[in-house]
Amino acid sequence: ATRNETPIIKVVMFPWLGYGHITPYLELAKKLTTRNFKIYLCSTIATLTCIEEKITPKLSHSIKLVPLLLPVLPGLPRKLHTTNGLPPHLMPKLKEALDSSVDEFSNILADIKPDLLIYDFLQPWAPLVANEQNIPAVQFITSSSTMTCFMFHYFKNPETEFPSKTIRFRDYESDKMEKLLACGRNLEERTKAVVGFERSLKIVLIKGFRDIEGEYIDYLTELVGKKFVPVGPLVQEPTPDEKGDEISDEILSWLDKKEEKSTVFVSFGSEYFLTKGDLDEIAYGLEMSKLNFIWVVRFPKGGSNGLSNGLLLEKTLPRGFLDRVGERGMVLQGWAPQAKILEHPSVGGFVSHCGWNSVLESMNFGVPIIAVPMHLDQPINARLVEEVGVGVEVVRDEKNRLRKEKLAAVINEVVVGDGGEFVRKRAAEMKENLRTKKDQEIDDVVEQLFASWNRL
Ligand code: UDP
Repeated sequence: ATRNETPIIKVVMFPWLGYGHITPYLELAKKLTTRNFKIYLCSTIATLTCIEEKITPKLSHSIKLVPLLLPVLPGLPRKLHTTNGLPPHLMPKLKEALDSSVDEFSNILADIKPDLLIYDFLQPWAPLVANEQNIPAVQFITSSSTMTCFMFHYFKNPETEFPSKTIRFRDYESDKMEKLLACGRNLEERTKAVVGFERSLKIVLIKGFRDIEGEYIDYLTELVGKKFVPVGPLVQEPTPDEKGDEISDEILSWLDKKEEKSTVFVSFGSEYFLTKGDLDEIAYGLEMSKLNFIWVVRFPKGGSNGLSNGLLLEKTLPRGFLDRVGERGMVLQGWAPQAKILEHPSVGGFVSHCGWNSVLESMNFGVPIIAVPMHLDQPINARLVEEVGVGVEVVRDEKNRLRKEKLAAVINEVVVGDGGEFVRKRAAEMKENLRTKKDQEIDDVVEQLFASWNRL
């Protein structure tokens, strides 16, 4: 296939069932539609709902949302067929339900008859299903190259240290590292089975860009034996014709009243729930920082023990916290329009768990990061943030406890202190850097896709 011979190229995209996965898939889809691709974005209804409103009338001709019905397992109703708000103990069940949907997915492919499948590394069986129908497939990884590279390094060379002095787990994180590597090893085993099949493209797409991860991207290519092609930061841009909502308007007008770069945004992604210990330290740390803040606090769906939303929040936060911070702080429950908030001129820092999307969004909007990594890939991403110079990590104590004093000190340093001047400058430069190169990557990606496709 070449671009000229095939007027419209039909692609099925199949991300993992999380907001942090489907949004980069959607952003990649948007870019591909500008190059003559028609996209069928396949996921569960509960996951598709998160992005429905982003499919503007203009996009709806070239991006179709295709629902995948998973078997309903006991304790896992359809509304929980997504990682957003999923109580952590149900995660294995969700994986099981997804892995049992092979026939359903096969029927979808047979109906659409796409020219290509773009799939997530968490569904290593998807390309096999495509292969049975002679459909070529390419993997798209939404994690950082640094973390992916770190994992592959230890699979291949368990005895040698990762060749970077800054990118490593800290002593108190050894159990987190074990968990990450165990997850990765399991996936690698499952992936190995599909690596050599016939219709697999010899490239892997990965979210990110060369300026900050070039050496890790090259090392990954060497380790895996497939060329890793960065697709750019793929940040969800607040679209002008997207529907606003009341909560967004309220937050934005609250921010309008604050001084420029005076406010920190505090959020730990779409999947993680804070422990009570961390939640208290964060509350007191924000109080001690004396800066303005917007904090999103999340609870698992169905875990409220019958309490109304407001009561649940009040019961969870330290007593009197909301009264003491008053107009200086806004606490939101569940969800915030993160991209719109980070884009606002009053925001001067982001207390983040360093999920890869959050890191790239922060860079895109020039907001320096106060890194509070929790688990999985986040510690590695946090080290990268420091290596690149766009943020400072709040290091935990030797017992792995987050401390309020330390949090308040780092927030102050990054947002207003003399010591934070460098990171503020680096973050602003990063924003400029990304602004000037946004559309270049997609041409390169399409070119590499076709080149690899033609070699099948
Ligand atoms: N997000 C959001 N509002 C929230 C929480 C998260 O818009 O209240 C978005 C955020 O902008 C990012 C994604 O959800 O695009 C989270 O992805 P990330 O990789 O940062 O973390 P994960 O959710 O995968 O842990």
